[in-house]
Amino acid sequence: MAEPISALPAILGPKGWLSGTDAEPYQRDWLNRYGVAPLGVARPANTAEVAAVVKACRQAGLAVVPQGGNTGLCGGAVAEQSDAVIVSLSRMTAIGEPYPESGSIAVEAGVVLAALHEALEPHGLMFPMHLGAEGSARIGGLIGTNAGGSHAFRYGMMQDLVLGLEVVMADGTVWDGMRSVQKDNAGYQLRKLFCGAEGTLGIVTRAILRLHPTPKQQASALLVMSDFAAAVSFGTYLRAEAGEFLAGLEFFSDVGLTLALKHLPDLAYQLETRGDVYLLVELASGSARVPLDEILASALEWGMEQGLVVDGTLANSGAQRAQFWRLREEQPEGQRLEGEQLKHDISVPPGAIARFIEAGAKLCHDILPGVRINPFGHLGDGNIHYNLSPPEGTADFYGKAGAFAEALATLATEMGGSFAAEHGLGRAKIAMADRNRGTVERELMAQLKCAFDPLGTMNPGVLVRETRSVDPR
Ligand SMILES: Cc1cc2nc3c(=O)[nH]c(=O)nc-3n(C[C@H](O)[C@H](O)[C@H](O)COP(=O)(O)OP(=O)(O)OC[C@H]3O[C@@H](n4cnc5c(N)ncnc54)[C@H](O)[C@@H]3O)c2cc1C
Repeated sequence: MAEPISALPAILGPKGWLSGTDAEPYQRDWLNRYGVAPLGVARPANTAEVAAVVKACRQAGLAVVPQGGNTGLCGGAVAEQSDAVIVSLSRMTAIGEPYPESGSIAVEAGVVLAALHEALEPHGLMFPMHLGAEGSARIGGLIGTNAGGSHAFRYGMMQDLVLGLEVVMADGTVWDGMRSVQKDNAGYQLRKLFCGAEGTLGIVTRAILRLHPTPKQQASALLVMSDFAAAVSFGTYLRAEAGEFLAGLEFFSDVGLTLALKHLPDLAYQLETRGDVYLLVELASGSARVPLDEILASALEWGMEQGLVVDGTLANSGAQRAQFWRLREEQPEGQRLEGEQLKHDISVPPGAIARFIEAGAKLCHDILPGVRINPFGHLGDGNIHYNLSPPEGTADFYGKAGAFAEALATLATEMGGSFAAEHGLGRAKIAMADRNRGTVERELMAQLKCAFDPLGTMNPGVLVRETRSVDPR
């Protein structure tokens, strides 16, 4: 058997193998918390090359770490050990022709989400996945994390948008599941299993994605709410009143808005009133005849009469709508530019959002008085990014990370929710999963991992505990 390091450049050619300083841009995660120098970065050009790389690494006892856009927030796409090869899908970016009749499209796993949106525009079709990192996140990574984003409550998470998959398994064989039907009950739902597997079961190389017609019209509003409970009540009302037209229901706080406006000077806030909580509401329809502006304006009026909405404005142009969305989507960037931060990706039943935020604040202030709490996220599906910044002059903020994370995870679990809503576990949350999930669930996950990857080649140290020592016999 050839040495893997000489075998890999031979398989991949000069464009496909990076080492030394060329590999550095792939080394650390987006939050710069995880990642050591790997043996190298493989950049295969097609499925056969991915399969050959995985086979060679497995034979040599090397770990394989799949990487998409490296925007994941749990440290899952970088190496934890130096005897690892990062497999970047960044050269596999082909986008097929969309099929309007079946509402589907075949893409390679390295396609950047924003590039897919752009490619679909002229066809009057859309892929309804939107998130702040869409200019970098790739289809394979979105599948790997089972991403959610701002439209998940209406269109579902990645697992609901994937019809078919092609996956290179841990032994280098290829599973061809590139089917484009919604209904396929011929056995276990394998395609769903790979959604959220974080690269621990195989490498997604191609996918068939579900498309929707682009809405013919949208109506968007930016609202100041009297408090979080008011935002929840108004959300419940909108769900009943606007029904299937409700396409966006996002919230952010004044802590987050202040940071975003401070650090991103080109950002515009369009209202005179400030409050503790803001809502971005969007209605959309495939028919130009539905009076969306009217429905939204009358909902606003109701909200004001009830004392839930303090102030609000409807977007009068596409440009203004884009500004509303930027205010929401720049929340993570504003906080990142402020300095130290801790992120918690919580979900609770939507009706419990306000209670979680209030009870969480008490717990966090007990741990560090004055800690700045910046909750924002997806009101429609109960997903709260419960992020923290230290009060000025705090010496050891990161030293308290475990205490914050544990307190908030326990609270979410007690409320019937999750401490890992849409970002996954990665390396960051395995211990937390051990503490917050029952023995049966943990055991099932370990058995699944072992069935797909008995030697522990695929992304060891991510999602489940280390399994590399498992004897396949
Ligand atoms: C500013 C910002 C905003 C964000 N907003 C959201 C949001 O609203 N909703 C949301 O869900 N997430 C959000 N995220 C998190 C992140 O963008 C998503 O998790 C995204 O799905 C990661 O895609 P990626 O291509 O960057 O994956 P990576 O970070 O490269 O990888 C993520 C995981 O998937 C695995 N993986 C990568 N490629 C493959 C493959 N081909 N086959 C199998 N496994 C693979 C990796 O090993 C890793 O475990 C945000 C991140 C940032 C920085």
